[in-house]
Amino acid sequence: MTTLAPNPHSPYADADPTKRHIFAAFAFFGDPTPGGLVPTACERLAVVPEEPLTGTSPDAELPDGLCPLCVAVMQGGDEPRHPVTDCRECEAVTDHDGLCALCRQEKHDAWWPTRGETAVAVEGSAP
Ligand SMILES: [Zn+2]
Ligand SMILES: [Zn+2]
Repeated sequence: MTTLAPNPHSPYADADPTKRHIFAAFAFFGDPTPGGLVPTACERLAVVPEEPLTGTSPDAELPDGLCPLCVAVMQGGDEPRHPVTDCRECEAVTDHDGLCALCRQEKHDAWWPTRGETAVAVEGSAP
């Protein structure tokens, strides 16, 4: 059985960083753009990985590492509920931990092209 790697990291993703999430958009729009921050089936945001997620048809054996909340939703379960607050940037009502999905996507899009520079800086400072 394959174990999936988690979604790529973003400081603006609020989905569980240790799990691979399924994107709600798959069902409607096909493959989302890799590197984009998009809504997951479990009502959070995660980064679209470079390699497409295959084998998620209802009959396929599910690989390890998938978010159990996403799987439950894709199998017809209820979407998880999250506490709702005001967005600290635009004051929209959001359930994404005080920063709404649109603000997160905007900040992620600005951050994403610079992520390599951050990683290099961290490596460079290691002994
Ligand atoms: Zn999930
Ligand atoms: Zn906002």
